[in-house]
Formats: sequence, structure tokens, C-alpha cells
Amino acid sequence: MPNEPLKDILIDQIRRDGPIDLATYMQIALSHPEHGYYWAQESIGAKGDFTTAPEISQLFGEMIGLWIIDCWHQMGSPATINIIEPGPGRGTLMADIVRTIAKASSMMPEVHLIETSPRLTDIQQETLKAHWHPDLSTVPAGPFILVANEFLDALPIRQFEMTKDGWAEVYIEATVEGGLKRGLRPSVIPALTAAPANFGDANSGDIVETCPAAEAFVTEIATRLNHDGGVALILDYGYGTAVFGDSLQALFDGNYADPLDHPGEADITAHVNFAALLNIAKNHGAYGHGPMEQGKFLEQLGLLVRADALKHQASGSQRSLIDQAVHRLTAQDQMGSLFKALAVVGDADLQPAGFAP
Ligand code: SAH
Repeated sequence: MPNEPLKDILIDQIRRDGPIDLATYMQIALSHPEHGYYWAQESIGAKGDFTTAPEISQLFGEMIGLWIIDCWHQMGSPATINIIEPGPGRGTLMADIVRTIAKASSMMPEVHLIETSPRLTDIQQETLKAHWHPDLSTVPAGPFILVANEFLDALPIRQFEMTKDGWAEVYIEATVEGGLKRGLRPSVIPALTAAPANFGDANSGDIVETCPAAEAFVTEIATRLNHDGGVALILDYGYGTAVFGDSLQALFDGNYADPLDHPGEADITAHVNFAALLNIAKNHGAYGHGPMEQGKFLEQLGLLVRADALKHQASGSQRSLIDQAVHRLTAQDQMGSLFKALAVVGDADLQPAGFAP
């Protein structure tokens, strides 16, 4: 038997207290304070299970840095400005942003990072001068620019499935053989912020997902934006309109795996429902721009111009690496279309760059 401490902990808990909903499972698998995936594993970057846009190329962080500078000018260039990043991973995006801001503006931001993993906090502290927080509540008030890249896809989701007897919620159960399996419990479906258009005609087997933590996060951001002014940029993979489907996925050693197979050792994520986030922002008095496909967003910010400038100073092999990075970030079959950008602003006059139709 392989040594799987977190699986044993989960099975013991389920045998003792009963099945757990999917959000509880995901929370424990990713963030258990000893064996959770973000606590224990070398997850992100070349050595990890998955790579992210800022780890692919500095071009990504540079474009976001220029985007931030433009927003700051539109905000009236406030002397005190917080830049906030939840889920900074290895800190690569923020390092590229800070470098770009120092080069291309007179902005003197205070950097606030929201991170729950002590292991990743240590890595971030090697390269960044910042303030660390467990959540938004301790980040000081005042105008801010927030960037969240591949943060919301890591937040726990709940799943509901239509059965012949009506809606049921997905629960995780323990098997007699000592494994984990998916089960269903009859349930009332919570009010959906953005439901699939054909929700009323759901067939047996259709699945809808909700992400209460992502919705709470955007509620808090929108409320703060109304009060303090500023902008939030959410970049992630997901759908622009709500659809039926099971989007839960796991990456284990770089390969797709069953999300129940390796709790604590696999990266588990789900599609972000951008339609729901946009509705929440609007319901709390903020304004949305997008969701816009990442490829088009980055091109509108000048990615190709910057790539050409870099290639001008580069050797032959570096030039082809730059071309590969541009392709991965923007091509339709890479990160260009599935990944999307959504900006939320508190002030209707602030028009963030990159969202022209
Ligand atoms: N933004 C980075 C990393 C994405 S991985 C990049 O683009 O490379 C997800 C990040 O979110 C990790 O840093 C993880 O530790 C953090 N995270 C996950 N759940 C969190 C939570 N509930 N609160 C704060 N950070 C969380």
C-alpha cells in the first residue's frame, strides 16, 4: 500500500462523521495544514504539476504591469496605492509587475499578498518585499489594484446532479475497501447566481457547480471597490456563460488523474464561472469589463509589440522561445481562449485597457 496520509485522514473522518461535500473534500485536499497539496508539494512551474502564464514568460507580467500603470493614471495617480495579489504562487507575476512599474512609472505601491501556504510564502519572501495576509480582511483600506491569476480555480466547489428523483448534491464517501468514491444525496439546489440557460430542462446526469468561496471573494472585492476605489483583474480558465458539466480536474505528476485518487498530492481545480462573478460584482454596485479571452486581452495590451522588441535583442534560440511563449499564452488551442480576463471597477469612468470588443 502506498503511503497516503491524507487519504487515510479523510477516510477516518468520513467513517466517523459521515460523507463530506465536494467543497470540504477540495478544501482538505488542497489546504490541509500538514498534508494539503499547496502545503506539501512542489506544485507550480517547470518542476511542478502545472505551469501558469507568469511561469511561461515575463511577457505576461510585463503586460499586466503596464495595465496596472494605466489604471493607476486613470485613478488620478494616487500617492498611496495598494497592489494586492491573492494566491501569488511562486511570486513570479508580482516580481515582473513590480519591475515593470519601477521602470515605466513613478508609482510607489505597497504590495499585499494573500497566501495560506507557509511553503509558498517562504518562496515568495525570497524575491518580494511585501506584506502577507491570510485573507483580504487584514489588507489596509485605501485605493487598490488587485490581480488574481489562477487563484479562483483553486477555491472549493460544490456539485449538484439531476437524478430521476430531482437534484442531489455530490458527496464523497469511503468504500469498504479503503478508498474514496463519489455519492449523491438528495438536496435542494442553492440559488444560482448564473444558471445555465436550459437549467429548467435539466436531464438526469446534468451537473451544475457553485463556488461559494469565489462568490464571497468577489462580493468582498466589489464592496471594497465601491468604498475605496480601484480595480480588480481576474484571470483564470473557465466559461463566460454558465453551462452544465463536471469541470473538476486533477493533475498528478503532470498527468490528468481522478480527483479522488491522490488527495494532497494532486492539484485539483475547477472552471471559473465568469458569468456568476460578473453578476455578483454588478449586484454589489460595481462595474464589469469582460470576460475577454486572454489571447485577445494580451494582444490588445501590446504583447506582440513587446515580444518583437525582446526578439530584436535576442539570439536565435531565445527568439524561438519567445515565439513559443507567445503561442502558449495567446493561441486558441492553448491558453488564448479557455483563459479569460474579467475586470471589476468601482467607478464607471475607469475604463481598463484590453477590453475593447
Ligand atoms: N497565481 C500563481 C499561482 C496559482 S496556484 C500563478 O499564476 O502562478 C494557486 C495559489 O493560490 C497558490 O499560491 C495557493 O497557495 C493559493 N491559495 C489556494 N487557496 C487559497 C486560499 N483559500 N487563500 C489564499 N491563497 C490560496
